[in-house]
Amino acid sequence: MSFHSQIIADTTTPATPDAAGAVQDRPLAMNGQADTRFDTTFALIRQLTGATHVCAQFTGDAPQPVPAGQDCIEAPLNLHGQRVGTLRAFAPGFAPNAHSLLESFATLVVEHATLWAEAHRDALTGAMTRRAFADDLTRAVSDYRRAGTEYSLIMLDLDKFKAINDSFGHAAGDAVLRAVGRAVQQELRLEDRFGRLGGEEFGVLVAADADTALDIAERVRVVIEQAVAPEFPQVAFTASLGIAACDIDCDTVDTLMAQADARLYAAKASGRNAVRGTRAFKRKQHIN
Ligand code: GH3
Ligand code: MG
Ligand code: MG
Repeated sequence: MSFHSQIIADTTTPATPDAAGAVQDRPLAMNGQADTRFDTTFALIRQLTGATHVCAQFTGDAPQPVPAGQDCIEAPLNLHGQRVGTLRAFAPGFAPNAHSLLESFATLVVEHATLWAEAHRDALTGAMTRRAFADDLTRAVSDYRRAGTEYSLIMLDLDKFKAINDSFGHAAGDAVLRAVGRAVQQELRLEDRFGRLGGEEFGVLVAADADTALDIAERVRVVIEQAVAPEFPQVAFTASLGIAACDIDCDTVDTLMAQADARLYAAKASGRNAVRGTRAFKRKQHIN
């Protein structure tokens, strides 16, 4: 089970403005609009442990710094015996049994995250649904506007996919879509977002600048080109990709999608099985 659509949740009763700032300074934490999925669970944790702030972190990144004057307790988030993250609680002081309570809640958080991811997953490809992806894109854009966190959107569309359906049948088309879903998710990091935007078109959202996104997109292009649909190994397939990075001229969901889409079609026009974006030669200054 992957957590592609369920990465970092963070609800907060800020202890102090400084403390809130310190714990929010992370890529893809998306705290600009606090994630509400765990509201009830986190409220219970706060109530029972005395925590002022609770967060679940599903990435392998370094933990958030502990704000000055606060203690932190943590419990591993385990899925099928493997550690997939950490549940952390912050407070100036905790109830005596706080740690064992947090460990019990960790199980609940993982189950909740798993079910949430399942409910927001496209059944055929395993990617996030369009709606869940759009929600994360909206959060990313507001995160960029608020804190200058770098994000890039990669849009990809399978090449001449109609011809695959026409030549090999709809079942072959579906098998290709499943293979693409598997290949791309294996290539991405756990904290990257991968969504099916419709038909044979997908989006990848990464907390990365234009240069890094170009490298990621090129890797994605290659894994799709090399992927095989086991049920139809004779079917070859490729994708074209377009990239847009958040910057001062591109800081809304609409402009980001329009730019990625325009570059995707430039990649199609160049002969397909190609990536189009820009290297960030001149990094633009984020203006608050
Ligand atoms: P281009 O390289 O320009 O993108 O050409 P294309 O053939 O990929 O694009 P077009 O938009 O003409 O065709 C997309 C096709 O994708 C048409 C549609 O029937 C097919 N399709 C959309 N969703 C699915 C699906 O879930 N399963 C299958 N098998 N086919 C699908
Ligand atoms: Mg296509
Ligand atoms: Mg298309």
